[in-house]
Amino acid sequence: MLQLNEPLADLAADAAAGLLQTFNIEAKLTAAAPGRVNLIGEHIDYCDGFVMPFAIDRYIVIAAAPNGRHEARIASAHGPGIATFPVDQEVTEGEPTWANYLRGVVRGFQDRGHQIPGFDAFIVSSVPGGAGLSSSAALECATATLLEGLLDTVLETREKALLCQKAEHEFAHVPCGIMDQFASAFGKTNRLVLIDCRSGEPELVPFENPDLTVIIANTTVHHQLSDGGYAARRKNTEDGLAIIGKSSWRDVTEADVTANWEMLGSPVNRRSRHVVTEIARTLKAAKALSHNHYDELAPLMAASHDSLRDDFEVSCKELDLMVEIARSIGRCGGVIGARMTGGGFGGSTVTLCESNKAEAIAATLAEKYEAATGIKPQIFASRPSQGAHLL
Ligand code: ADP
Ligand code: MG
Repeated sequence: MLQLNEPLADLAADAAAGLLQTFNIEAKLTAAAPGRVNLIGEHIDYCDGFVMPFAIDRYIVIAAAPNGRHEARIASAHGPGIATFPVDQEVTEGEPTWANYLRGVVRGFQDRGHQIPGFDAFIVSSVPGGAGLSSSAALECATATLLEGLLDTVLETREKALLCQKAEHEFAHVPCGIMDQFASAFGKTNRLVLIDCRSGEPELVPFENPDLTVIIANTTVHHQLSDGGYAARRKNTEDGLAIIGKSSWRDVTEADVTANWEMLGSPVNRRSRHVVTEIARTLKAAKALSHNHYDELAPLMAASHDSLRDDFEVSCKELDLMVEIARSIGRCGGVIGARMTGGGFGGSTVTLCESNKAEAIAATLAEKYEAATGIKPQIFASRPSQGAHLL
């Protein structure tokens, strides 16, 4: 029932074959960057909060070669059209739209003063797109890693992640926080990436116990609200902070939110309560994990989901259903905790469970979800994996 994963080497071979077939050129460089799943700490990366994602073993892989021209030509197995744009002048947005993530990253390198050589590239992916697993950050980080290889240079990981975030802001117009690009760039095998989003410092938290499995269940629904909804939530949190009169959410307590409840008004008061309680939950979860107190994660993940559903209002009936099914399986059935993950309005849930029961749990999630919705979900297990790298 758990979907199998395509090994990186196979993805690399597919990308090289695509490059050869599309542009008649042999791959000289191959870059890979993973998607991510967030264990806890949702919608607070843009609030100076703590978040705890990890890089999943699902990758975007780009095979490329210099083409001796003054332009980039890029094709993807997952997007229509070929993106062709000059690299000897400042890169701007264009068609096809999926290539804007790459254009933005190329522009980021130009802004650092690099002369970009013409290149051909072909993209393949095992990161489901629009599933809350950040295929966009994977695409940006894979592109940045490819450019490092083409230019024979290495950026500091933090600078690279920030360059990718800027590409998403300016070329995809998504005002995302730093979580996705940090997870894809800093991810390590068997490590969660606990990110202090105020200092921008990641801390790698061991996640080595083979008895634990993380199941990712993609509801495969994607509600339109996500576009405006994300920016609206971000604005709510900015308004909340201004009304409370602090310059960082890290200096705000739950008591501050309660004391200002009426003045904040609805929905900003509930949005604010989510931010402060989610920051506290994430720190508690990191502590519980570092002491191997896994069962302490259960109430934290449950409260995180409920807060995203009721206070932050970014869940949807499909995500709630998937989480309800996991909860109904319960601790005896091997489920430690479950919650929605990512931006919401559709996408995926994350279920922390006992490894020896993971197959059975995946089967129950799939069966009950399909019975209730008529939709076949995509369910797979993932362990923390290596972040962006050249193959
Ligand atoms: P998420 O990051 O959660 O997967 P987004 O909407 O932020 O969802 O990003 C998805 C977009 O990223 C797609 O619509 C597409 O434009 C681009 N994208 C993702 N994967 C690929 C790919 N393999 N090839 C081309 N474009 C891709
Ligand atoms: Mg994205």
